[in-house]
Amino acid sequence: MVMGELSQETQVAVIGGGPGGYAAAFRAADLGLDVTLVEMEPRCGGTCLLRGCIPSKALLQTAEIIWDAAEASGRGVVFDKPQVDLEKLRTWKDGVVEKLASGLDHLAKKRGVQVLRARAFFEDAHTLRLEDSEVTHLTFRHAVIAVGSEPVKLPGASTTPTGRIMDSTGALALKEIPQRLLVVGGGYIGLELGCAYAVFGSRVTLVHRAGRILGGVDDDLVRPLAKRISTLFEATRLETEVAELREDADGVKAVLRGPEGTIEERFDRVLIAVGRIPRSRTMGLENAGIAVDDAGFIAVDSQRRTSVPHIYAVGDVAGHPMLAHKAMREGKVAAEAIAGMPSAYDVQAIPAVVYTDPQIAWAGLTENEARRKNVPVKIARFPWGASGRALTMDAAEGLTKILCDPDSGRLLGMGIVGRGAETMIAEGVLAIEMGASAEDVALTVHAHPTLSETEGEAAEVFLGSATHLYVPQGAQSKTATAL
Ligand code: FAD
Repeated sequence: MVMGELSQETQVAVIGGGPGGYAAAFRAADLGLDVTLVEMEPRCGGTCLLRGCIPSKALLQTAEIIWDAAEASGRGVVFDKPQVDLEKLRTWKDGVVEKLASGLDHLAKKRGVQVLRARAFFEDAHTLRLEDSEVTHLTFRHAVIAVGSEPVKLPGASTTPTGRIMDSTGALALKEIPQRLLVVGGGYIGLELGCAYAVFGSRVTLVHRAGRILGGVDDDLVRPLAKRISTLFEATRLETEVAELREDADGVKAVLRGPEGTIEERFDRVLIAVGRIPRSRTMGLENAGIAVDDAGFIAVDSQRRTSVPHIYAVGDVAGHPMLAHKAMREGKVAAEAIAGMPSAYDVQAIPAVVYTDPQIAWAGLTENEARRKNVPVKIARFPWGASGRALTMDAAEGLTKILCDPDSGRLLGMGIVGRGAETMIAEGVLAIEMGASAEDVALTVHAHPTLSETEGEAAEVFLGSATHLYVPQGAQSKTATAL
């Protein structure tokens, strides 16, 4: 320690104030530990709150209103063409974020969690150097690393200061609705933001490297969304790579290489959404002896302990899936482990949701995974065309499917495509966690008319007792397919 340096001590240092970090800090404080949370940004909330989950859903929710209004003409209700006041929309979206961020500050204060605004860097296994802060060093007994992830950069096509070539953060800033938008990447972030901009009025071209969008997600769940974007977007170019992006005074020239050869197109803006990588390389992990795998994720055990037993890692930096609810669960597990509780991260199912229209949600075992791992399953599908509630919502393209153990009927996975999938998937997650069988789900009475009935009916398809689908007795194996 040299003159002018100020050191502090804490029982638990949490690095990063996103969902993983604040969940860990709050739980540790609730368990009576002395906690200091170090966050380098002016606000807590992390990627999820400041430039991810919440602002993107605020935009998608607004897009849904516009879309619903347009669709209402089919029922004889016609609205004028919507006027989007971008500044007002931006202010509202930022207000939602601000409200939640101040809520976090308030919750931290109430719990006695000290929040330091600084960039943390490991000097050794018990000391953090804090940059840009009055407190220059923080020594700790335990630490939780929750520094998240950052967007993958496309080689030769970095984001530009004008914002014409942007990542998801730039897209969420909503500076303008470009006439022509190129979205690079057919994962959930590119699709969600591409759909929102398309509904706001942009002519969107989606470019995706693989032969189909949303790699890894079951085909039958993706199909209705692929159909939807085939009309919503101006073009969807699969098996196509961006060879070059060049910005000039009036836009961006994109050189695209795909099945049609090399083509050049001009766009007003480009959104690059080609994945995210753990933010593990710039905080001196090696000084503390913390092991990182080849992909840059911090290696952790079931309690989220790193290779250095008193240091834990949670959230995006500790592995896939990079989702806020996974980060929060891990944060709690780490805090409880520090407090000496026998907690472990042993979840049976993590729900994943794509908030497009239609939405896609899945949890537990997927059909692709069952095939890849050779897991015997029986799959039962209930198409929403047979759901009264879905028809009142013009959502007949939806589908609910369950994957069960063929012998015991135990629910192993659930997949849904359609409106409200974000909420409905919770029943599947609970069923999987509780070890419920298709019979348990079928015998659970679902309110009528609701989309949740499709979950009960999918279970009935499995059992051969569905009411709203005719399945000839003995022929249910055709509807409930075996893998
Ligand atoms: P983060 O939320 O990234 O938080 C890390 C924090 O650490 C940041 O605040 C950062 O400033 C801070 N930090 C980093 N390094 C340091 C340092 N050295 N010192 C101090 N502080 C540091 N997930 C969902 O579950 N649902 C969604 O709908 C969803 N939508 C998304 C939409 C977009 C556009 C994006 C980009 C992501 C979305 N995600 C979504 C993913 C979700 O945001 C992340 O999984 C989640 O934020 C991970 O939480 P975390 O705590 O691990 O990290």
